[in-house]
Amino acid sequence: MKKGHKYIFVVGGVMSGVGKGIAASSIGKILQAKGYKVNPVKVDPYLNVDAGTMNPTEHGEVFVLDSGLETDQDMGNYERFMDLDLTAEDYITSGMVYKAVIDRERNLGYKGKCVEAIPHITDEITRRIHKAAETNGSQISLIEIGGTIGDYQNAMFIEAARVLKIKNPNDVIFIMVSYLPVPSKLGEMKTRPTQNAVHQLNSYGVQADIIIARSAVPLDKRRKEKISISCSIPVENVISAPDIESVYDVPLNFEKDKIGDTILKALKLKNKSARNGLNPWKQFAARVKNGEGEVNIAVVGKYFDTGDFVLSDAYVSVIEAIKFSAFKVGVKPKLHWLSSKDFETDPKKVKELSNFDGVIVPGGFGETGIEGKINVIKYVRENKIPYLGLCYGMQLAVIEYARNVAGLVGANTAEINPKAPHVVIDIMPEQKKLLAENKYGASMRLGGYPALLKSKTIARDAYGAAEIRERHRHRYEVNPEYIEKIENAGLVFSGTSPDGKLMEIAELPREVHPFFLGTQFHPELLARPLHPHPLFTEFIKVAIKNK
Ligand code: GLN
Repeated sequence: MKKGHKYIFVVGGVMSGVGKGIAASSIGKILQAKGYKVNPVKVDPYLNVDAGTMNPTEHGEVFVLDSGLETDQDMGNYERFMDLDLTAEDYITSGMVYKAVIDRERNLGYKGKCVEAIPHITDEITRRIHKAAETNGSQISLIEIGGTIGDYQNAMFIEAARVLKIKNPNDVIFIMVSYLPVPSKLGEMKTRPTQNAVHQLNSYGVQADIIIARSAVPLDKRRKEKISISCSIPVENVISAPDIESVYDVPLNFEKDKIGDTILKALKLKNKSARNGLNPWKQFAARVKNGEGEVNIAVVGKYFDTGDFVLSDAYVSVIEAIKFSAFKVGVKPKLHWLSSKDFETDPKKVKELSNFDGVIVPGGFGETGIEGKINVIKYVRENKIPYLGLCYGMQLAVIEYARNVAGLVGANTAEINPKAPHVVIDIMPEQKKLLAENKYGASMRLGGYPALLKSKTIARDAYGAAEIRERHRHRYEVNPEYIEKIENAGLVFSGTSPDGKLMEIAELPREVHPFFLGTQFHPELLARPLHPHPLFTEFIKVAIKNK
Protein backbone atom coordinates (compact mmCIF):
# COMPACT_ATOMS: atom_id res chain seq x y z
CA MET A 1 0.00 0.00 0.00
CA LYS A 2 1.13 3.54 -0.77
CA LYS A 3 2.86 5.12 2.22
CA GLY A 4 0.71 7.64 4.02
CA HIS A 5 -2.56 6.46 2.50
CA LYS A 6 -5.38 7.12 4.98
CA TYR A 7 -8.38 5.03 5.95
CA ILE A 8 -11.59 6.12 7.58
CA PHE A 9 -13.91 3.37 8.78
CA VAL A 10 -17.50 4.37 9.40
CA VAL A 11 -19.44 2.04 11.68
CA GLY A 12 -22.94 2.17 13.12
CA GLY A 13 -23.92 2.08 16.78
CA VAL A 14 -27.19 1.51 18.65
CA MET A 15 -29.40 0.76 15.67
CA SER A 16 -29.59 0.68 11.91
CA GLY A 17 -31.43 3.08 9.66
CA VAL A 18 -30.15 6.32 11.16
CA GLY A 19 -28.40 7.49 8.02
CA LYS A 20 -24.92 6.02 8.16
CA GLY A 21 -24.69 6.03 4.37
CA ILE A 22 -25.70 9.69 4.12
CA ALA A 23 -23.29 10.55 6.94
CA ALA A 24 -20.43 8.77 5.17
CA SER A 25 -21.32 10.34 1.80
CA SER A 26 -21.34 13.74 3.46
CA ILE A 27 -17.92 13.12 4.98
CA GLY A 28 -16.69 12.19 1.52
CA LYS A 29 -18.11 15.42 0.11
CA ILE A 30 -16.45 17.50 2.84
CA LEU A 31 -13.04 15.88 2.35
CA GLN A 32 -13.32 16.45 -1.40
CA ALA A 33 -14.07 20.08 -0.70
CA LYS A 34 -10.89 20.15 1.37
CA GLY A 35 -9.02 19.10 -1.75
CA TYR A 36 -8.47 15.40 -1.05
CA LYS A 37 -9.07 12.53 -3.43
CA VAL A 38 -11.36 10.14 -1.61
CA ASN A 39 -12.68 6.77 -2.65
CA PRO A 40 -15.75 5.54 -0.84
CA VAL A 41 -16.09 1.81 -0.25
CA LYS A 42 -19.33 0.19 0.85
CA VAL A 43 -19.12 -3.06 2.75
CA ASP A 44 -22.30 -5.13 2.81
CA PRO A 45 -22.04 -8.02 5.25
CA TYR A 46 -24.58 -10.26 3.51
CA LEU A 47 -23.61 -13.46 1.72
CA ASN A 48 -25.11 -12.46 -1.61
CA VAL A 49 -22.21 -11.98 -4.00
CA ASP A 50 -23.89 -8.84 -5.32
CA ALA A 51 -27.24 -7.08 -4.87
CA GLY A 52 -28.59 -8.23 -8.24
CA THR A 53 -30.62 -11.16 -7.00
CA MET A 54 -32.34 -9.25 -4.19
CA ASN A 55 -35.98 -8.27 -4.23
CA PRO A 56 -36.38 -4.47 -4.44
CA THR A 57 -39.41 -4.50 -2.14
CA GLU A 58 -37.29 -5.90 0.64
CA HIS A 59 -33.88 -4.51 -0.12
CA GLY A 60 -34.56 -1.32 -2.03
CA GLU A 61 -33.23 -0.34 -5.41
CA VAL A 62 -30.35 -2.17 -7.03
CA PHE A 63 -27.81 0.44 -8.02
CA VAL A 64 -25.80 -0.52 -11.12
CA LEU A 65 -22.27 0.80 -11.53
CA ASP A 66 -20.71 1.65 -14.87
CA SER A 67 -18.76 -1.62 -14.64
CA GLY A 68 -22.07 -3.47 -14.48
CA LEU A 69 -21.76 -4.50 -10.84
CA GLU A 70 -25.15 -4.60 -9.12
CA THR A 71 -24.85 -2.93 -5.74
CA ASP A 72 -26.66 -1.47 -2.78
CA GLN A 73 -28.52 1.81 -3.09
CA ASP A 74 -25.98 3.44 -0.75
CA MET A 75 -23.56 3.40 -3.67
CA GLY A 76 -25.95 5.78 -5.39
CA ASN A 77 -25.65 8.17 -2.45
CA TYR A 78 -21.89 8.19 -2.78
CA GLU A 79 -22.04 8.81 -6.51
CA ARG A 80 -24.56 11.60 -6.08
CA PHE A 81 -22.92 13.35 -3.14
CA MET A 82 -19.38 12.99 -4.43
CA ASP A 83 -20.15 13.30 -8.16
CA LEU A 84 -18.03 10.21 -8.86
CA ASP A 85 -18.34 7.09 -10.95
CA LEU A 86 -17.51 4.33 -8.50
CA THR A 87 -15.57 1.26 -9.57
CA ALA A 88 -16.42 -2.38 -8.97
CA GLU A 89 -13.66 -2.46 -6.36
CA ASP A 90 -15.57 0.07 -4.25
CA TYR A 91 -18.17 -2.50 -3.28
CA ILE A 92 -17.41 -5.45 -1.01
CA THR A 93 -19.83 -8.09 0.25
CA SER A 94 -19.15 -11.02 2.55
CA GLY A 95 -20.30 -13.18 -0.35
CA MET A 96 -17.53 -11.81 -2.61
CA VAL A 97 -14.93 -12.24 0.11
CA TYR A 98 -15.87 -15.81 1.06
CA LYS A 99 -16.27 -16.82 -2.56
CA ALA A 100 -12.79 -15.54 -3.42
CA VAL A 101 -11.24 -17.35 -0.46
CA ILE A 102 -13.06 -20.62 -1.13
CA ASP A 103 -12.26 -20.49 -4.86
CA ARG A 104 -8.61 -19.92 -3.99
CA GLU A 105 -8.66 -22.84 -1.56
CA ARG A 106 -10.15 -25.11 -4.24
CA ASN A 107 -7.31 -24.12 -6.57
CA LEU A 108 -4.70 -25.00 -3.94
CA GLY A 109 -3.99 -21.29 -3.58
CA TYR A 110 -3.30 -21.74 0.12
CA LYS A 111 -0.76 -24.48 -0.58
CA GLY A 112 -2.17 -27.08 1.77
CA LYS A 113 -2.70 -24.76 4.74
CA CYS A 114 -5.79 -24.90 6.93
CA VAL A 115 -7.92 -22.01 5.67
CA GLU A 116 -9.52 -19.97 8.46
CA ALA A 117 -11.71 -16.92 8.88
CA ILE A 118 -8.75 -15.27 10.58
CA PRO A 119 -6.45 -14.45 8.89
CA HIS A 120 -7.64 -15.57 5.46
CA ILE A 121 -11.00 -13.85 5.33
CA THR A 122 -9.64 -10.71 7.01
CA ASP A 123 -6.64 -10.66 4.65
CA GLU A 124 -8.96 -10.90 1.65
CA ILE A 125 -10.97 -7.96 3.03
CA THR A 126 -7.83 -5.86 3.46
CA ARG A 127 -6.61 -6.86 0.01
CA ARG A 128 -9.86 -5.61 -1.49
CA ILE A 129 -9.72 -2.33 0.42
CA HIS A 130 -6.17 -1.73 -0.85
CA LYS A 131 -7.18 -2.70 -4.37
CA ALA A 132 -10.02 -0.16 -4.33
CA ALA A 133 -7.63 2.61 -3.22
CA GLU A 134 -5.17 1.64 -5.93
CA THR A 135 -7.80 1.47 -8.71
CA ASN A 136 -9.04 4.93 -7.77
CA GLY A 137 -5.62 6.44 -7.09
CA SER A 138 -7.09 8.00 -3.96
CA GLN A 139 -5.44 9.55 -0.92
CA ILE A 140 -8.15 8.57 1.53
CA SER A 141 -10.31 5.44 1.61
CA LEU A 142 -13.69 6.01 3.22
CA ILE A 143 -15.05 2.61 4.17
CA GLU A 144 -18.60 2.23 5.41
CA ILE A 145 -19.16 -1.04 7.23
CA GLY A 146 -22.80 -2.06 6.87
CA GLY A 147 -24.85 -3.18 9.86
CA THR A 148 -24.47 -2.20 13.50
CA ILE A 149 -21.78 -2.88 16.11
CA GLY A 150 -22.62 -6.15 17.77
CA ASP A 151 -23.81 -7.91 14.61
CA TYR A 152 -22.05 -11.21 14.06
CA GLN A 153 -22.15 -10.59 10.30
CA ASN A 154 -19.86 -7.57 10.14
CA ALA A 155 -17.36 -8.65 12.82
CA MET A 156 -14.78 -9.88 10.25
CA PHE A 157 -14.71 -6.46 8.64
CA ILE A 158 -14.18 -4.71 11.95
CA GLU A 159 -11.42 -7.18 12.77
CA ALA A 160 -9.72 -6.46 9.43
CA ALA A 161 -9.96 -2.74 10.18
CA ARG A 162 -8.53 -3.23 13.67
CA VAL A 163 -5.49 -5.03 12.28
CA LEU A 164 -5.00 -2.32 9.67
CA LYS A 165 -4.97 0.26 12.46
CA ILE A 166 -2.45 -1.73 14.53
CA LYS A 167 -0.15 -1.85 11.52
CA ASN A 168 -0.70 1.80 10.54
CA PRO A 169 -1.58 3.63 13.77
CA ASN A 170 -1.33 7.11 12.22
CA ASP A 171 -3.33 6.35 9.12
CA VAL A 172 -6.57 4.77 10.29
CA ILE A 173 -9.51 6.29 12.17
CA PHE A 174 -12.94 5.07 13.20
CA ILE A 175 -16.09 7.13 13.07
CA MET A 176 -19.18 5.83 14.79
CA VAL A 177 -22.56 7.00 13.64
CA SER A 178 -24.70 6.53 16.70
CA TYR A 179 -28.22 7.32 17.80
CA LEU A 180 -29.44 9.24 20.82
CA PRO A 181 -33.09 8.69 21.61
CA VAL A 182 -35.29 11.34 23.17
CA PRO A 183 -38.02 9.22 24.80
CA SER A 184 -41.24 11.19 24.59
CA LYS A 185 -42.25 10.49 28.20
CA LEU A 186 -38.89 11.77 29.46
CA GLY A 187 -38.36 14.56 26.97
CA GLU A 188 -34.65 14.23 27.61
CA MET A 189 -31.90 12.98 25.31
CA LYS A 190 -30.27 9.78 26.52
CA THR A 191 -26.59 9.07 25.88
CA ARG A 192 -26.49 5.61 27.47
CA PRO A 193 -27.14 3.54 24.30
CA THR A 194 -24.30 5.39 22.57
CA GLN A 195 -21.98 4.79 25.52
CA ASN A 196 -22.83 1.11 25.34
CA ALA A 197 -22.20 0.97 21.59
CA VAL A 198 -18.81 2.64 21.99
CA HIS A 199 -17.91 0.23 24.77
CA GLN A 200 -19.00 -2.66 22.60
CA LEU A 201 -16.68 -1.39 19.88
CA ASN A 202 -13.96 -1.20 22.56
CA SER A 203 -14.53 -4.88 23.26
CA TYR A 204 -13.42 -5.56 19.66
CA GLY A 205 -10.19 -3.74 20.47
CA VAL A 206 -11.24 -0.62 18.58
CA GLN A 207 -11.59 2.93 19.90
CA ALA A 208 -13.87 5.37 18.12
CA ASP A 209 -12.08 8.60 17.15
CA ILE A 210 -15.17 10.58 16.22
CA ILE A 211 -18.83 10.12 17.11
CA ILE A 212 -21.59 11.41 14.91
CA ALA A 213 -24.53 11.76 17.23
CA ARG A 214 -27.75 11.32 15.31
CA SER A 215 -30.83 12.46 17.11
CA ALA A 216 -34.14 14.23 16.60
CA VAL A 217 -32.64 17.45 17.96
CA PRO A 218 -29.14 18.99 18.22
CA LEU A 219 -26.86 17.87 21.06
CA ASP A 220 -26.32 20.31 23.88
CA LYS A 221 -22.97 20.99 25.53
CA ARG A 222 -23.74 18.74 28.46
CA ARG A 223 -24.46 15.73 26.28
CA LYS A 224 -21.33 16.33 24.26
CA GLU A 225 -19.25 16.45 27.44
CA LYS A 226 -20.88 13.34 28.80
CA ILE A 227 -20.14 11.38 25.62
CA SER A 228 -16.62 12.78 25.55
CA ILE A 229 -15.84 11.65 29.14
CA SER A 230 -17.56 8.27 28.98
CA CYS A 231 -16.33 7.34 25.50
CA SER A 232 -12.79 8.74 25.84
CA ILE A 233 -12.82 11.17 22.94
CA PRO A 234 -12.21 14.93 22.83
CA VAL A 235 -15.40 16.94 23.10
CA GLU A 236 -14.87 18.55 19.67
CA ASN A 237 -14.90 15.04 18.17
CA VAL A 238 -18.56 14.65 19.08
CA ILE A 239 -20.54 15.88 16.10
CA SER A 240 -24.15 16.92 16.49
CA ALA A 241 -26.33 15.49 13.71
CA PRO A 242 -29.98 16.36 14.28
CA ASP A 243 -32.80 15.38 11.92
CA ILE A 244 -33.04 17.89 9.12
CA GLU A 245 -35.43 18.48 6.27
CA SER A 246 -33.14 17.74 3.35
CA VAL A 247 -30.36 15.13 3.29
CA TYR A 248 -28.44 17.54 1.08
CA ASP A 249 -27.98 19.81 4.08
CA VAL A 250 -26.09 17.13 5.99
CA PRO A 251 -22.58 18.08 4.76
CA LEU A 252 -23.26 21.72 5.61
CA ASN A 253 -24.63 20.78 8.98
CA PHE A 254 -21.64 18.58 9.80
CA GLU A 255 -19.38 21.45 8.95
CA LYS A 256 -21.05 23.57 11.63
CA ASP A 257 -19.26 21.27 14.06
CA LYS A 258 -16.11 21.38 11.89
CA ILE A 259 -16.03 17.67 11.22
CA GLY A 260 -13.67 18.17 8.26
CA ASP A 261 -10.95 19.78 10.37
CA THR A 262 -11.41 17.17 13.09
CA ILE A 263 -10.99 14.31 10.63
CA LEU A 264 -7.90 15.83 9.02
CA LYS A 265 -6.37 16.41 12.44
CA ALA A 266 -7.09 12.82 13.51
CA LEU A 267 -5.54 11.55 10.26
CA LYS A 268 -2.58 13.90 10.64
CA LEU A 269 -3.30 15.51 7.29
CA LYS A 270 -2.75 19.12 6.28
CA ASN A 271 -5.79 21.31 6.56
CA LYS A 272 -6.23 22.75 3.12
CA SER A 273 -9.17 23.69 1.02
CA ALA A 274 -10.11 23.13 -2.62
CA ARG A 275 -10.70 26.22 -4.73
CA ASN A 276 -14.46 26.41 -4.42
CA GLY A 277 -14.78 24.25 -1.34
CA LEU A 278 -18.38 23.47 -0.58
CA ASN A 279 -19.72 26.49 -2.50
CA PRO A 280 -21.30 24.65 -5.45
CA TRP A 281 -22.93 22.30 -2.97
CA LYS A 282 -24.21 25.23 -0.89
CA GLN A 283 -25.79 26.73 -3.98
CA PHE A 284 -27.45 23.42 -4.78
CA ALA A 285 -28.74 23.00 -1.21
CA ALA A 286 -30.22 26.48 -1.42
CA ARG A 287 -31.98 25.68 -4.71
CA VAL A 288 -33.67 22.74 -2.97
CA LYS A 289 -35.57 25.23 -0.82
CA ASN A 290 -36.15 28.02 -3.29
CA GLY A 291 -38.38 26.44 -5.95
CA GLU A 292 -41.32 28.53 -7.16
CA GLY A 293 -44.52 26.73 -8.04
CA GLU A 294 -44.61 22.97 -8.28
CA VAL A 295 -44.53 20.18 -10.80
CA ASN A 296 -46.73 17.14 -10.14
CA ILE A 297 -45.22 13.91 -11.38
CA ALA A 298 -46.97 10.54 -11.12
CA VAL A 299 -44.81 7.43 -10.84
CA VAL A 300 -46.65 4.27 -11.82
CA GLY A 301 -44.92 1.30 -10.27
CA LYS A 302 -45.45 -1.99 -8.59
CA TYR A 303 -42.93 -2.36 -5.78
CA PHE A 304 -45.33 -0.87 -3.28
CA ASP A 305 -46.56 -4.12 -1.79
CA THR A 306 -45.06 -3.81 1.67
CA GLY A 307 -46.62 -0.48 2.39
CA ASP A 308 -45.48 3.09 2.26
CA PHE A 309 -42.12 2.42 3.84
CA VAL A 310 -40.54 0.86 0.80
CA LEU A 311 -41.84 3.30 -1.77
CA SER A 312 -38.90 5.56 -1.80
CA ASP A 313 -36.41 2.74 -1.35
CA ALA A 314 -37.25 0.79 -4.47
CA TYR A 315 -37.10 3.87 -6.70
CA VAL A 316 -34.65 6.09 -4.88
CA SER A 317 -32.58 7.07 -7.94
CA VAL A 318 -35.71 7.91 -9.93
CA ILE A 319 -36.94 10.13 -7.12
CA GLU A 320 -33.62 11.91 -6.81
CA ALA A 321 -33.34 12.36 -10.58
CA ILE A 322 -36.76 14.04 -10.70
CA LYS A 323 -35.82 16.29 -7.80
CA PHE A 324 -32.45 17.41 -9.21
CA SER A 325 -34.04 18.40 -12.50
CA ALA A 326 -36.96 20.15 -10.81
CA PHE A 327 -34.52 22.12 -8.62
CA LYS A 328 -32.53 23.03 -11.70
CA VAL A 329 -35.63 24.24 -13.51
CA GLY A 330 -36.65 26.10 -10.33
CA VAL A 331 -39.85 24.30 -9.28
CA LYS A 332 -40.76 22.17 -6.30
CA PRO A 333 -41.17 18.50 -7.22
CA LYS A 334 -44.30 16.75 -5.99
CA LEU A 335 -44.31 13.01 -6.47
CA HIS A 336 -47.40 10.84 -6.55
CA TRP A 337 -47.25 7.08 -6.26
CA LEU A 338 -49.74 5.12 -8.28
CA SER A 339 -49.95 1.37 -8.16
CA SER A 340 -50.11 -0.09 -11.66
CA LYS A 341 -52.46 -2.86 -10.53
CA ASP A 342 -55.22 -0.30 -9.90
CA PHE A 343 -55.24 0.60 -13.60
CA GLU A 344 -55.92 -3.01 -14.49
CA THR A 345 -58.90 -3.60 -12.26
CA ASP A 346 -60.42 -0.20 -13.02
CA PRO A 347 -59.56 0.92 -16.58
CA LYS A 348 -61.53 4.17 -16.12
CA LYS A 349 -59.03 5.20 -13.48
CA VAL A 350 -56.65 6.38 -16.21
CA LYS A 351 -58.67 9.61 -16.41
CA GLU A 352 -57.12 10.60 -13.09
CA LEU A 353 -53.80 10.90 -14.89
CA SER A 354 -54.96 14.24 -16.30
CA ASN A 355 -54.31 15.68 -12.83
CA PHE A 356 -50.57 15.30 -13.28
CA ASP A 357 -48.05 17.34 -15.24
CA GLY A 358 -46.06 14.26 -16.21
CA VAL A 359 -46.08 10.49 -15.82
CA ILE A 360 -43.17 8.11 -15.33
CA VAL A 361 -43.20 4.33 -15.66
CA PRO A 362 -39.94 3.16 -14.07
CA GLY A 363 -38.07 -0.12 -14.44
CA GLY A 364 -39.50 -3.43 -13.35
CA PHE A 365 -39.65 -7.14 -13.86
CA GLY A 366 -42.34 -9.76 -14.37
CA GLU A 367 -46.02 -9.77 -15.05
CA THR A 368 -47.67 -7.97 -12.14
CA GLY A 369 -49.43 -4.77 -13.11
CA ILE A 370 -48.18 -4.82 -16.71
CA GLU A 371 -51.54 -4.38 -18.43
CA GLY A 372 -52.22 -1.53 -16.01
CA LYS A 373 -49.02 0.19 -17.07
CA ILE A 374 -49.92 -0.31 -20.74
CA ASN A 375 -53.34 1.30 -20.09
CA VAL A 376 -51.55 4.22 -18.49
CA ILE A 377 -49.17 4.63 -21.43
CA LYS A 378 -52.01 4.51 -23.94
CA TYR A 379 -53.85 7.24 -22.05
CA VAL A 380 -50.88 9.58 -21.69
CA ARG A 381 -49.92 9.07 -25.33
CA GLU A 382 -53.42 9.82 -26.60
CA ASN A 383 -53.92 12.73 -24.22
CA LYS A 384 -50.51 14.26 -24.79
CA ILE A 385 -49.44 14.08 -21.17
CA PRO A 386 -45.60 14.15 -20.92
CA TYR A 387 -44.33 10.61 -20.51
CA LEU A 388 -40.94 9.24 -19.52
CA GLY A 389 -40.46 5.46 -19.62
CA LEU A 390 -37.43 3.94 -17.94
CA CYS A 391 -36.32 0.53 -19.18
CA TYR A 392 -39.49 -1.55 -18.69
CA GLY A 393 -41.31 1.75 -19.16
CA MET A 394 -39.73 2.02 -22.62
CA GLN A 395 -40.40 -1.61 -23.54
CA LEU A 396 -44.06 -1.25 -22.53
CA ALA A 397 -44.36 1.96 -24.54
CA VAL A 398 -43.11 0.06 -27.59
CA ILE A 399 -45.64 -2.71 -26.90
CA GLU A 400 -48.46 -0.21 -26.47
CA TYR A 401 -47.54 1.52 -29.72
CA ALA A 402 -47.19 -1.78 -31.55
CA ARG A 403 -50.63 -2.94 -30.37
CA ASN A 404 -52.62 0.24 -30.71
CA VAL A 405 -50.95 2.15 -33.54
CA ALA A 406 -48.89 -0.27 -35.63
CA GLY A 407 -51.73 -2.78 -35.69
CA LEU A 408 -49.70 -5.63 -34.23
CA VAL A 409 -52.56 -7.16 -32.27
CA GLY A 410 -51.48 -9.05 -29.17
CA ALA A 411 -47.93 -7.62 -29.21
CA ASN A 412 -46.04 -8.46 -26.05
CA THR A 413 -42.67 -9.06 -24.45
CA ALA A 414 -41.15 -12.52 -24.24
CA GLU A 415 -40.81 -11.88 -20.51
CA ILE A 416 -44.59 -12.27 -20.20
CA ASN A 417 -45.66 -14.31 -23.20
CA PRO A 418 -42.97 -15.78 -25.44
CA LYS A 419 -45.73 -17.26 -27.61
CA ALA A 420 -47.51 -13.96 -28.25
CA PRO A 421 -48.42 -13.35 -31.92
CA HIS A 422 -45.91 -10.46 -32.04
CA VAL A 423 -42.99 -10.68 -29.64
CA VAL A 424 -41.83 -7.09 -30.11
CA ILE A 425 -39.59 -7.22 -27.03
CA ASP A 426 -37.48 -10.34 -27.06
CA ILE A 427 -34.70 -12.04 -25.21
CA MET A 428 -31.17 -11.93 -26.60
CA PRO A 429 -29.74 -15.33 -27.58
CA GLU A 430 -26.86 -15.24 -25.03
CA GLN A 431 -29.38 -14.50 -22.29
CA LYS A 432 -31.53 -17.43 -23.31
CA LYS A 433 -28.65 -19.80 -22.75
CA LEU A 434 -27.89 -18.45 -19.26
CA LEU A 435 -31.49 -18.76 -18.15
CA ALA A 436 -31.77 -22.31 -19.48
CA GLU A 437 -28.93 -23.13 -17.10
CA ASN A 438 -30.62 -21.30 -14.19
CA LYS A 439 -27.76 -18.76 -14.09
CA TYR A 440 -29.58 -15.68 -12.87
CA GLY A 441 -26.79 -13.82 -11.03
CA ALA A 442 -25.28 -10.96 -13.08
CA SER A 443 -26.87 -12.44 -16.21
CA MET A 444 -28.50 -9.33 -17.65
CA ARG A 445 -27.14 -6.62 -19.91
CA LEU A 446 -25.48 -4.62 -17.17
CA GLY A 447 -23.59 -1.37 -16.82
CA GLY A 448 -22.44 1.42 -19.10
CA TYR A 449 -22.78 1.15 -22.88
CA PRO A 450 -22.42 3.82 -25.56
CA ALA A 451 -25.31 4.89 -27.77
CA LEU A 452 -25.63 7.12 -30.80
CA LEU A 453 -28.40 9.69 -31.12
CA LYS A 454 -30.36 10.70 -34.21
CA SER A 455 -30.27 14.39 -35.03
CA LYS A 456 -33.34 16.60 -34.61
CA THR A 457 -34.86 14.43 -31.92
CA ILE A 458 -35.84 15.23 -28.33
CA ALA A 459 -33.02 13.03 -27.08
CA ARG A 460 -30.34 14.58 -29.27
CA ASP A 461 -31.41 18.10 -28.39
CA ALA A 462 -31.68 17.38 -24.66
CA TYR A 463 -28.23 15.80 -24.43
CA GLY A 464 -26.64 18.28 -26.80
CA ALA A 465 -24.37 15.45 -27.93
CA ALA A 466 -24.41 12.78 -30.62
CA GLU A 467 -22.85 10.06 -28.49
CA ILE A 468 -23.77 9.19 -24.93
CA ARG A 469 -22.96 6.51 -22.38
CA GLU A 470 -25.67 5.19 -20.06
CA ARG A 471 -26.13 2.35 -17.61
CA HIS A 472 -28.24 -0.72 -18.26
CA ARG A 473 -29.93 -3.49 -16.34
CA HIS A 474 -32.26 -5.61 -18.45
CA ARG A 475 -32.57 -8.92 -20.17
CA TYR A 476 -34.88 -8.07 -23.08
CA GLU A 477 -34.48 -5.80 -26.11
CA VAL A 478 -36.63 -4.41 -28.91
CA ASN A 479 -36.93 -7.28 -31.40
CA PRO A 480 -35.02 -6.24 -34.58
CA GLU A 481 -37.65 -7.93 -36.74
CA TYR A 482 -40.24 -5.35 -35.74
CA ILE A 483 -38.21 -2.16 -35.85
CA GLU A 484 -39.21 -1.19 -39.36
CA LYS A 485 -42.91 -1.87 -38.83
CA ILE A 486 -42.98 0.16 -35.63
CA GLU A 487 -40.98 3.04 -37.11
CA ASN A 488 -43.23 3.11 -40.16
CA ALA A 489 -46.12 3.59 -37.76
CA GLY A 490 -44.44 6.72 -36.40
CA LEU A 491 -42.39 5.83 -33.33
CA VAL A 492 -38.78 7.02 -33.69
CA PHE A 493 -35.84 5.07 -32.32
CA SER A 494 -33.72 8.11 -31.62
CA GLY A 495 -30.91 6.28 -29.83
CA THR A 496 -29.27 3.00 -30.81
CA SER A 497 -26.17 1.01 -29.98
CA PRO A 498 -23.23 2.14 -32.19
CA ASP A 499 -23.73 -0.91 -34.46
CA GLY A 500 -27.37 0.10 -34.86
CA LYS A 501 -28.67 -3.24 -33.62
CA LEU A 502 -30.03 -2.42 -30.16
CA MET A 503 -32.72 0.19 -29.66
CA GLU A 504 -31.78 2.51 -26.80
CA ILE A 505 -34.37 5.31 -26.97
CA ALA A 506 -37.87 5.45 -28.43
CA GLU A 507 -39.74 8.71 -28.83
CA LEU A 508 -42.58 10.37 -30.66
CA PRO A 509 -41.89 13.44 -32.84
CA ARG A 510 -42.58 16.72 -31.02
CA GLU A 511 -45.25 17.59 -33.60
CA VAL A 512 -47.23 14.54 -32.48
CA HIS A 513 -46.70 14.63 -28.72
CA PRO A 514 -44.95 17.20 -26.49
CA PHE A 515 -42.81 14.56 -24.73
CA PHE A 516 -43.25 10.82 -25.16
CA LEU A 517 -39.90 9.15 -24.64
CA GLY A 518 -38.59 5.90 -23.25
CA THR A 519 -35.05 4.70 -22.61
CA GLN A 520 -33.84 1.11 -22.59
CA PHE A 521 -31.17 2.24 -20.12
CA HIS A 522 -31.59 3.79 -16.67
CA PRO A 523 -30.82 7.52 -16.95
CA GLU A 524 -31.72 7.97 -13.28
CA LEU A 525 -28.48 6.23 -12.30
CA LEU A 526 -26.46 9.10 -13.71
CA ALA A 527 -28.49 11.99 -12.31
CA ARG A 528 -26.39 14.02 -9.88
CA PRO A 529 -27.24 17.03 -7.71
CA LEU A 530 -24.66 19.18 -9.47
CA HIS A 531 -25.36 17.57 -12.87
CA PRO A 532 -29.05 16.78 -13.25
CA HIS A 533 -29.86 14.35 -16.06
CA PRO A 534 -30.70 16.13 -19.33
CA LEU A 535 -33.63 13.82 -20.18
CA PHE A 536 -35.26 14.34 -16.79
CA THR A 537 -34.65 18.09 -17.08
CA GLU A 538 -36.28 18.22 -20.51
CA PHE A 539 -39.20 16.12 -19.24
CA ILE A 540 -39.75 18.49 -16.30
CA LYS A 541 -39.47 21.57 -18.53
CA VAL A 542 -42.13 20.24 -20.90
CA ALA A 543 -44.28 19.12 -17.96
CA ILE A 544 -44.34 22.68 -16.61
CA LYS A 545 -44.97 24.22 -20.00
CA ASN A 546 -47.93 21.91 -20.54
CA LYS A 547 -49.44 22.55 -17.15
N1 GLN B 1 -37.87 -6.61 -17.27
C1 GLN B 1 -37.23 -5.90 -18.34
C2 GLN B 1 -36.00 -6.62 -18.85
O1 GLN B 1 -35.45 -7.44 -18.15
C3 GLN B 1 -36.89 -4.48 -17.92
C4 GLN B 1 -35.86 -4.42 -16.85
C5 GLN B 1 -35.84 -3.10 -16.14
O2 GLN B 1 -36.78 -2.33 -16.19
N2 GLN B 1 -34.78 -2.83 -15.42
O3 GLN B 1 -35.56 -6.39 -19.95
